[in-house]
Amino acid sequence: MNEKTNSPVIDVRKLGKIYFLESIQVNGLTNVTFQIYPGDFISIMGPSGSGKSTLMNILGCLDTPTSGQYFLDQEEVSHLEENQLAMIRNRKIGFVFQSFNLLPKLNAFQNVELPLLYAGIPKTKRCEIVNPLLEKVGLSQRKFHRPNQLSGGQIQRVAIARALANNPSIVLADEPTGNLDTRSGEEVLEVFQNLNEQGKTIILVTHEPDVAFHSKRILRFCDGQLEKEESVDDPTQAEEVLQMAKENLEAI
Ligand code: ADP
Ligand code: MG
Repeated sequence: MNEKTNSPVIDVRKLGKIYFLESIQVNGLTNVTFQIYPGDFISIMGPSGSGKSTLMNILGCLDTPTSGQYFLDQEEVSHLEENQLAMIRNRKIGFVFQSFNLLPKLNAFQNVELPLLYAGIPKTKRCEIVNPLLEKVGLSQRKFHRPNQLSGGQIQRVAIARALANNPSIVLADEPTGNLDTRSGEEVLEVFQNLNEQGKTIILVTHEPDVAFHSKRILRFCDGQLEKEESVDDPTQAEEVLQMAKENLEAI
């Protein structure tokens, strides 16, 4: 499939974000332009403070830019009010955080069920959705375990299943393997790869070159700006990408 023949699912143009800390102005993002197409698997890389989370929060409709435009499925969402953003977020986006954000008193099933409860979906239907999702992330045998009875990798997989509850077409993950050991990180990465093969558009922030290497494209940020876009599919670039990513890691 030639993805360029499709319309982008995400199209950002000259995006900027300025934070105000008391009277001090902090540039979160400056003049960022790129497109993401259906079925893409994008890694966002860059040193700490380079604007990765700022970008993810805007892409995930958790925040709005101070300048520029963001088109999500061709609809401009840059300047929507919070309640409109929340509707779009619930319909189109699954968000996975580094810190998992599961509710400790609820078991795996109940955590995944939560967005469906909010959406007013009846119980039978909720079970029809949650059980296959837990199976998809390999946790059918752990559905009655609470977070403190699960490993870090399992908790993150519950968080991914929860992010999928509303069947979003785009899954955003901000350093989803950042708190995990190598093996758990690999399990989580495998879940994202499977989701991508099943057609979801995946965007993940990572510091790990090996994780980025499994995506299709890398967007590299520095000082709030998009420094470089690299294709991982292109074998002539692959070695260079891995080397640069490793240098980037050392610079953090
Ligand atoms: P990264 O995720 O790449 O580490 P961030 O997007 O968190 O980077 O931060 C980019 C810049 O914006 C940094 O200088 C950071 O201090 C600043 N920043 C991020 N969030 C806020 C905030 N809520 N208020 C003020 N400054 C912020
Ligand atoms: Mg961050």
